[in-house]
Amino acid sequence: MPEPAQVMVITPHPDDAEFGVAGTVARWTGEGKNVIYVVCTNGDKGTSDTSMKPEELARIREQEQLAAAKLLGVREVIFLRHPDQTLEDTPEFRKEIVRLIRMYKPETVVTTDLYRRYIWHRDHRIASRVTLDAVFPYARDFLAYPDLLEKGLQPHKVKEVLLWGAEEPNYRSNITDTFDIKIAALRCHKSQMNNNPSSRLEEWLRERHKTLAQGEDYELAEAFHRAEIR
Ligand SMILES: [Zn+2]
Repeated sequence: MPEPAQVMVITPHPDDAEFGVAGTVARWTGEGKNVIYVVCTNGDKGTSDTSMKPEELARIREQEQLAAAKLLGVREVIFLRHPDQTLEDTPEFRKEIVRLIRMYKPETVVTTDLYRRYIWHRDHRIASRVTLDAVFPYARDFLAYPDLLEKGLQPHKVKEVLLWGAEEPNYRSNITDTFDIKIAALRCHKSQMNNNPSSRLEEWLRERHKTLAQGEDYELAEAFHRAEIR
């Protein structure tokens, strides 16, 4: 059984977690927290480069994700390697996430927000929904998966979930000191940055994180919808 992790970040594609939570992840790892990533899809369709082959793109995006995670101090990256744009809310996918939650026993699970309206990537909606279902009740309940129990994967109760991209955030995290690392981690995703020259990316994100910190006594924030599991 692996060493438990305090935080499990479940990201639909390589790079989503960097946009959503990288500043907070860098702060956490700086404070000594143990953080791991689970990457649901291989991101093999997210390109406008018509000469790019899907297998090659998947390989590049894993390397980019590993480089970003290393910069952020993430302990381990688990790639589930589902093809891009194919996530479905299936019993198999749910069990995959439950298995990981029971293996790593995180206190906090972070993913994208299911409840964002209108135009929202299907993989994001589904990764979020399946993660929330896996956290509660499937990872928690003894009788949910007798076969996992037989393999020594005891039920685990996650304490809280944080959802990035939320339209109704209720929780803010100070990333003033880790904003630069977030930008550096985003720049590791070179194959995704073709429409985003680095200077504009930094300027755009600084504005965004300033807006999210309005009313706080610090400059830059990431914002989440936080739900406690009682
Ligand atoms: Zn995505």
